[in-house]
Amino acid sequence: MSSFKSSIASMRLAPGQAHKDTLPASTKYQDNFINKPPISPPSSIKKIGSVSDDGAAVENNEQVANKDPVEDWDGGYRFAPIKEHHVARAMTRRYGDDLYRTAISDIVIIGAGSAGLSCAYTLAKERPDLMITIVEAGVAPGGGAWLGGQLMSAMVVRKPADRFLQELQVPYEDEGDYVVVKHAALFTSTILSKVLQFPNVKLYNATAVEDLITVTDPLGSGNLRVAGVVSNWTLVTLAHGLQSCMDPQTITAPVVCSFAGHDGPFGAFSVKRLVATGMIDKLGDMRGLNMRCAEDYIVNATREIVPGLITGGMELSELDGANRMGATFGGMLASGCKAAREAVKLYDSYILDEGEVVGLKKSLKE
Ligand SMILES: Cc1cc2nc3c(=O)[nH]c(=O)nc-3n(C[C@H](O)[C@H](O)[C@H](O)COP(=O)(O)OP(=O)(O)OC[C@H]3O[C@@H](n4cnc5c(N)ncnc54)[C@H](O)[C@@H]3O)c2cc1C
Repeated sequence: MSSFKSSIASMRLAPGQAHKDTLPASTKYQDNFINKPPISPPSSIKKIGSVSDDGAAVENNEQVANKDPVEDWDGGYRFAPIKEHHVARAMTRRYGDDLYRTAISDIVIIGAGSAGLSCAYTLAKERPDLMITIVEAGVAPGGGAWLGGQLMSAMVVRKPADRFLQELQVPYEDEGDYVVVKHAALFTSTILSKVLQFPNVKLYNATAVEDLITVTDPLGSGNLRVAGVVSNWTLVTLAHGLQSCMDPQTITAPVVCSFAGHDGPFGAFSVKRLVATGMIDKLGDMRGLNMRCAEDYIVNATREIVPGLITGGMELSELDGANRMGATFGGMLASGCKAAREAVKLYDSYILDEGEVVGLKKSLKE
């Protein structure tokens, strides 16, 4: 052990000093590379406070200098120090805080496909006062919008949904009645990065909604109302099945927007669950492709389908038995935007107590 330690010690170099034998083979004989002094760290990189292993401050200047991060692309690149528990705690504290904070959310969005992300963007921008929580079963948010039809790159969007692309600053080619984004991934990555930058948005990915919270509607109808979602890490849900015996988490919210996509193992989740609970009678099942009418329908029909739950995107086509529209995505984007507007109207009409609907605002009762 001691010989290992001393060989490591002999390999340590003073700042700026280069030792040919310690460099990787591929860089050994590049003299320019070896003789260049390390570039000092950019001013944007903060000096990490120097703390010894047992937490005491380190006084030694040389040790402090050795702990500074250095962005030297000529072989002296050095990261600021880290310990394993720093990484573990950096993640767990924030995840725990998020779970605590979002246990009551203002609006929950199920599914981060093109419709869900369009809804999230519109809501987060229009209403920075609302806490918006997105729950996405997949590790990669984006749903089916990483490619266009038949796994090709381009994404077709019919006007007037090009206005939403302008809002997002996604470039496109104008073909007259429709526009073409050169790659669907450009749309999805742009909207995703914008949504995630809003301080009032939390995305839980790799997390599946496996049930809905349903309570007796206090607004007097005597029917059930959706009052939030029940979630679990998708791996747990996959291992144990939807509505498993493995205890899940809950998120209480007065408004839930569901964009769970086509029928499938997870798809059309909310509308299928609502049939199972008797809150809606049956699904209409998505009909054959008809581009001429399907997109207008899906946007205009995006609505609250049971108290507290709005549905849009391709999930709605499963509920209403609407036509599919093929590889044209404007309907998905505009359905998400419409759902955001409906969600704000609903939210603003409620009197709330800890995220639960307890009444309607007076002006709306009259
Ligand atoms: C058979 C088929 C037909 C298609 N037809 C059309 C069409 O007519 N028009 C068209 O534009 N595109 C079509 N597509 C392509 C594509 O699926 C959609 O365009 C588009 O992605 C749908 O957007 P969305 O946001 O409604 O749903 P999706 O993009 O499918 O997104 C749904 C998201 O919800 C997530 N999710 C589902 N259940 C849960 C849950 N329980 N908890 C958490 N997250 C969940 C999924 O992981 C997914 O990320 C079709 C795809 C298929 C496979």
